[in-house]
Amino acid sequence: MGNGKKMRGAVLPGTSTVEFTEFEVPEPGPRQVLIEMKASSICGSDIRAIYREHLGKGPEAYQGVVAGHEPCGRIVKLGPGCRVRREGERVTVYHISGCGCCEDCMDGYQISCRSEIRAAYGWQRNGGHAPFLLAEEQDCIALPDELTYVDGAFLACGYGTVWECLTRMRLSGRDRLLITGLGPVGLAAAQLGKALGAAQVIGVEIDEQRLDFAENLKFDDGVPLVDHTVTSDEEALDKVLKLTDSRGCEVSIDCSGAASARLLALRGTRQWGRCGYVGEGGKVEFDVSQHLIHPQITLYGSWVTSRRHLADLAGFLASKRLHPDITSGPQFPLREAAQAYEIADRGHTGKVSIVFE
Ligand SMILES: [Zn+2]
Ligand SMILES: [Zn+2]
Repeated sequence: MGNGKKMRGAVLPGTSTVEFTEFEVPEPGPRQVLIEMKASSICGSDIRAIYREHLGKGPEAYQGVVAGHEPCGRIVKLGPGCRVRREGERVTVYHISGCGCCEDCMDGYQISCRSEIRAAYGWQRNGGHAPFLLAEEQDCIALPDELTYVDGAFLACGYGTVWECLTRMRLSGRDRLLITGLGPVGLAAAQLGKALGAAQVIGVEIDEQRLDFAENLKFDDGVPLVDHTVTSDEEALDKVLKLTDSRGCEVSIDCSGAASARLLALRGTRQWGRCGYVGEGGKVEFDVSQHLIHPQITLYGSWVTSRRHLADLAGFLASKRLHPDITSGPQFPLREAAQAYEIADRGHTGKVSIVFE
């Protein structure tokens, strides 16, 4: 199927390079929509599991499709039988398409769908690094007028993941928040944490340039996203304790995936507090009695979010007039996708994205 028109899409051969392949501009089938891409950001998972090497196995493997699992754009064509979405509508795309029928899909957690037809955009079906994207109607989340297309792209994976974990931990104004890892996901945790009311945000990071970047981020009224930045070294825990009356933070979240940072997040959590892990990959080892049981800590593992919660997040940001795109690093046109991935891989800036005219 197709209309005969061609487009070039970026694919990732797994050798820290980007290649361009010609694809047909797709024709939307039943209950599908064609989206003209406006922004398509790069996620740490793209770097870790596709760009540097292809890590996934079996159904999780990258299929050589157009990359980019954080797509945002405008619907330009509806397939037959679409029920809700309209032509011209601005949408962000929940980045996994599920079977639609299993318990996980019923809850909107398509990330957890185990059907053979489950496919992540940019991994098993074409993603956002091309001028057009074919999406299922049910995967599209309306983008409120208040939000930019880059905001929408950031929501699709990173912000959604952080929102899910922080709201599951019931972060509120009674809590201080410790964040380990101030990459794009950690910055999302800082912005959403403050917006959810966190009294104080402490961010720990090993990379000096990331620390600098985080220190300069502010809300419109001049309030910083991160109140205290701490360099990740052997004294980091002492510094966190000093900032919190020797108690630690009520809520902590690891956004790095590094073992030492995961342990720091746990040890920097106050007695009876909540600690969440969202950073992917790797391992962690700790003394369970000393660091988890005796301090009465609840440990959360949290993976992506649901379609419903993604829509909630979009509404929350619109009502607060908040823009995730303040955490943006450099933006590139599609033809410079190779540079975009190179910069994202170095990991010294805010979130890198590909933007379209
Ligand atoms: Zn992602
Ligand atoms: Zn399913």
